[in-house]
Amino acid sequence: HITRTLRNAIASGRIAHAYLFSGPRGVGKTTAARILAKCLNCVNGPTITPCGSCESCKGITTGSSVDVFEIDGASNNSVDNVREISESVRYVPSQGKYKVYIIDEVHMLSTAAFNALLKTLEEPPPHAIFIFATTEVHKIPATILSRCQRFDFKRIPFRDIQTHLKKIVTKEGIPFEDQALFVLAREADGSLRDSQSLLEQVLAFAGGDLKASHVAEALGLMDRSILFEISEAVVGKDPKACLNIVEKIYEFGYDLKRATSDLLEHLRDLAVMKVTGDASLLDLPDSELERLSEISSRVGAERLHMLFSIISKGYEDVSRSAHPRYAFEMTLLKAAHFDELEPLGELVARLEGLASKAGSGTGTGGQTNVKAPATQAQAPSANVRPSAVPWKRDAEPAVSQKAAPAPAAMEVQAEAVEVEAVKEAQPAKTGPDNGLLEFVGKRNKELFELLKGATFEVEEAVVNITVAARAGAKLTVLRAALDACLRDFYGRPVTARINGNGAAQTGAPKQKEQDPVLMDALRILGGRIIEDRRRTNV
Ligand SMILES: [Zn+2]
Repeated sequence: HITRTLRNAIASGRIAHAYLFSGPRGVGKTTAARILAKCLNCVNGPTITPCGSCESCKGITTGSSVDVFEIDGASNNSVDNVREISESVRYVPSQGKYKVYIIDEVHMLSTAAFNALLKTLEEPPPHAIFIFATTEVHKIPATILSRCQRFDFKRIPFRDIQTHLKKIVTKEGIPFEDQALFVLAREADGSLRDSQSLLEQVLAFAGGDLKASHVAEALGLMDRSILFEISEAVVGKDPKACLNIVEKIYEFGYDLKRATSDLLEHLRDLAVMKVTGDASLLDLPDSELERLSEISSRVGAERLHMLFSIISKGYEDVSRSAHPRYAFEMTLLKAAHFDELEPLGELVARLEGLASKAGSGTGTGGQTNVKAPATQAQAPSANVRPSAVPWKRDAEPAVSQKAAPAPAAMEVQAEAVEVEAVKEAQPAKTGPDNGLLEFVGKRNKELFELLKGATFEVEEAVVNITVAARAGAKLTVLRAALDACLRDFYGRPVTARINGNGAAQTGAPKQKEQDPVLMDALRILGGRIIEDRRRTNV
């Protein structure tokens, strides 16, 4: 963008007297200023393709040009310095067509110096060109800004820096690890110049070859594999491993604040991987992407979000604490201890399923299979079932009659459901629970015979089928046909888990001895019985 605008201006002869190049350090502002100077002062100039070999071009390259001046604004920031410049501007160039003043870090000029500069900018001699470079454009007075053509330089993309470094080491014949270039490019933070000086620093330290461990050691960085160790320990809820890692980090003398902020970035990467599954969104080497995707597969998005806010809070604690190590430890312990909350919607759906069962459970014989109207509305066709609602088909209606009454909390709803159930009992002899058997009956008589009297329990992709031992053995032989039936009935891949313990025909499964509704509620909510205070009102 910048080069195109500048090129067009030069090509059409619309040359401004003052340019302002702003942007972070090391992104090529000064380099661009020198190129612009060459474009203007080349023997063929103004041209968009300076020859690079004339006196003027060579002079600019070596810094010996008599018409191009590079001034460091930080050390020449007084009004006197600017007055000298204003004096010299008045004389015509000796060699080229323009006198070019490149003032770096121009925001460092004093107020008086800016005022003096403004006078020159208000009435510049026709041959005078100013190119200002700055990292802090907000410190430049508006009066100066309004007289400049401004160009904003952006950070150089991480991947471009990595490619640039790769070119250098390849050209120099230095053996390197990709991970080492990755860490260097990351540290350079958008600055090509920084990336080069970091590379030199590491090579001076490590000598012959470029390894990730050399980079970490030379620059005092934490080895990135430690980040993965932390996330593995946290995701795996292993507080002991967390403490060991903190000790390791502490003994190496890494900055804990920096470690925490690296960890935040790492969690962000995990979340991006989890939610999008798109590795191209992450600027990471392949080896890290692989490990990242493995860890992200073991943790839910909800938990990742919670972990991020825990570590975020931890960053503040570590930064402020007089004992950053303990703050870091507590943060990780909290993160490792934190349990994933079940998505609320799913929980509600399962409780609704339970409530409807409570309704049928307290009903009289013959109505046991009738589900609550709400559930029927959700699943108008027997083939469509909300997957989050577990359901059981009782072996015989008589069995569920034996079920103990619902807990008091359930009772109000249970009674309400019962009224509906009585109304619907006549037309709906076969509730949705019978749909599967009917379906099987039409498809495969042999399977139908074996499944009569079986207990079904659906969990996500598995149907637990409890039948008598002999039927179980036969079902196992017919497994392929059974799985196909289940898949077609549920409209998704479902596998049968056949349990031939014989309980199905002789009586209720063991769990039925307890109140099934209560047991289900405990399972869904993850609770346990402390005291049984139910009323007995059968
Ligand atoms: Zn030239």
